[in-house]
Amino acid sequence: MNNYFVILAAGKSKRFHKNLDKQFYIYKNKEIIEHSIEKSLNSKLFKKIIVVTNNAIHFKNKIYSKSIKIIKGGKERSDSTLNALKFIKKYKPKNVFIHDAARPNFSIRLLKKITNSLKKNKAVVPIISSKDSIKYKIKNRVFNIKRNDSFLTQTPQAFAFKELYNLAINQNNQVSDEASLFINNDYKIKFIPGENQNNKITFLDDINEPKTFFGIGFDIHKLVKNRRLYLGGSRIPFHSGLKGHSDGDVILHSIIDAILGATQKKDIGSLFPNTKKFKNIKSVKMLKPILINLDKANFIINNLDINLICEQPKVSKYRNKIVNSISKIMNLNNNQINLKGKTVEKLGLIGKEKAIACEVIISITKYD
Ligand code: ZN
Repeated sequence: MNNYFVILAAGKSKRFHKNLDKQFYIYKNKEIIEHSIEKSLNSKLFKKIIVVTNNAIHFKNKIYSKSIKIIKGGKERSDSTLNALKFIKKYKPKNVFIHDAARPNFSIRLLKKITNSLKKNKAVVPIISSKDSIKYKIKNRVFNIKRNDSFLTQTPQAFAFKELYNLAINQNNQVSDEASLFINNDYKIKFIPGENQNNKITFLDDINEPKTFFGIGFDIHKLVKNRRLYLGGSRIPFHSGLKGHSDGDVILHSIIDAILGATQKKDIGSLFPNTKKFKNIKSVKMLKPILINLDKANFIINNLDINLICEQPKVSKYRNKIVNSISKIMNLNNNQINLKGKTVEKLGLIGKEKAIACEVIISITKYD
């Protein structure tokens, strides 16, 4: 193992943000650059890992393993690569990997595949096929590129040190990646399958990750005679029904509060105050507009966990009915809803069948 890993992080990333340094932006709980540093280190495939940066101060207080070296970058990407190649020359490396810090999502598996492929090749470059159609323009004419004949190159790209060094030191033009150097000089490259998730972060928009939120809801209503019992939007035969300004459906009310909680929208009382307008409203009608808003804001419900707290009716008897009803109202699969029955050892109002309570936890994810 005489391989070296170079991480290029000297770019100005102006397309990302005018003030933020892309490589230090927090992504998946750490700075973008840390993903590459950690993975290359954890792979145990490299003698040294070279971080090329124009912001050495940022690394001043970080404590890294001795195998990580921070060096100064150049003006352009190819200048930075050359700086790194010159720096590692003294170690007499066999192979060198060049990687963009803006690609934090490569796998250690990919590093291993490239390493294996280097045994028989002097240049190994991961590629993926383009999802978009590509055109190119010469003067005023536009041409199509056959999608089957075209592909996109990613990093890390790996090379025999000697070959890359010689090409890099003699290059006249700036190149956007090291594969271009090999191509321009008609050197052979072994292309291997890259990874779709190993996309390059260029714009801040590229990393609007889905975010998951949780909400909790609780409700309790008194049971009174001569009233219909609704649970989860379905009518349940019982000697009493739930008293309330609406139909008193504790399950749907708890679900509403859980959704409002997860989306930071206060509570059911502020949305549906005890006014004439909402007198005897069906709880399904309260839930529907909230679900529509959730959908409009690109939220997806992951799952619901419901505790129905009552002595009677027996949840086991009506579980399927209630779950089916909720899944229909909320457009969910039954396996996204779990309904648990909980008795209270005949204690208190609930134990004496004078009230039913419910608690709900919901998980939702926002996609942009
Ligand atoms: Zn209620």
